[in-house]
Amino acid sequence: MTADVQAADPFGWLERAAAERARAGLTRRLRPRGRHEDVLDLAGNDYLGLTRHPVVTRAAADAAVRWGAGATGSRLVTGSTALHGELEAELTDFHGAEAALVFSSGFAANLGMVTALSGAGTHLVCDRYNHASLIDATRLAKASGARVSLFGHADAAAARAALAAAAEPRRLVVSDTVFSVDGDLADVAGLARACREHGAALVLDDAHGLGVLGDSGAGALSAAGLSGAGDVVVSVTLSKSLGAQGGAVLGPRGVIRHLAETARTFVFDTGLAPASAGGALAALRLLRAEPERAARVRSTARRLAAGLTAAGLRTGAPGAAVVSVRAPSPDAAVQWARRCLDAGVRVGCFRPPSVPDGHSRLRLTARADLTEDEIGRALEVVTATRPEGLRRS
Ligand code: PMP
Repeated sequence: MTADVQAADPFGWLERAAAERARAGLTRRLRPRGRHEDVLDLAGNDYLGLTRHPVVTRAAADAAVRWGAGATGSRLVTGSTALHGELEAELTDFHGAEAALVFSSGFAANLGMVTALSGAGTHLVCDRYNHASLIDATRLAKASGARVSLFGHADAAAARAALAAAAEPRRLVVSDTVFSVDGDLADVAGLARACREHGAALVLDDAHGLGVLGDSGAGALSAAGLSGAGDVVVSVTLSKSLGAQGGAVLGPRGVIRHLAETARTFVFDTGLAPASAGGALAALRLLRAEPERAARVRSTARRLAAGLTAAGLRTGAPGAAVVSVRAPSPDAAVQWARRCLDAGVRVGCFRPPSVPDGHSRLRLTARADLTEDEIGRALEVVTATRPEGLRRS
């Protein structure tokens, strides 16, 4: 059948939206990276330098050969292998939690965790700078009858006040542990105290804490002395420190069972690919065998921040692996990142809507395997290529 009327182009508005983004300096492009390019990478989230570790890549390859390139179905049908179970057991033990559940991504873990624990009669008290996945989870929770209030960034006293004002029988405080763009930390101990005072649960996203925070790299909960707490639920990603792909939720046994039976991003999603489960498990075992990697990432991040500050640039105080550097405008940030790349150093470039306050930034990530020379080269390139407006007078 052919249409004999000339329809208006239903996607015509997309061109106009793209032109608007371009005018605001917010165009985004996919740039495939070369496999062996000679670039110093300070843009990725491979904090422990494990994604290409031969033990990790071998384990991922072996898992694919043994179990297949995909999981073949939902975790509840055919998508659970012995590897998924082993990974959950290892994560549980490392984290000091009662149980864990592996999802196909950190994003899916956050959506599943927050929505399955909320609904009518629930009040979510959320940090205003939470990651997009928690924001979307909160929106879904709202659509199913939950109430939501936002509190001032990283302000545990504000979270406590919001809890005190919430009348619903079930209350959750929801926060990132490490904020992914600026690299600053939530006051996890303060949030936990506020939750306990009000009989609320604490729900944390430790995507950037696992492998970096705590003496052994077990994450923000361990750093705050809260491992195994019965009123805390934590999500992690397997795609940053563990160098693979996937996500997980850790917490009390009853919570994990509830998620396995009701979280829609678990029940209706294909299980994590075996290669990712195998790679993440091998990376986790390496981290447990070599816990000094975690401390090295933190000290490297502090050195990068100190070097940039000494050169007159504005950085946040890095609590974990992420170092953020203010740029005067979205365009200036893009050009600065491009000049860094031309000089052989890849850095991240964050512009609205990824930054909530309109301040565009470069985002540098420390890695446990950066050498002294590499740290020096990164500092030299980022400072030498700074935008005109940031020149030291
Ligand atoms: N939470 C935070 C704070 C993140 O930074 C990210 C990834 N950028 C995610 C969740 C999502 O994790 P994943 O990439 O595994 O989906």
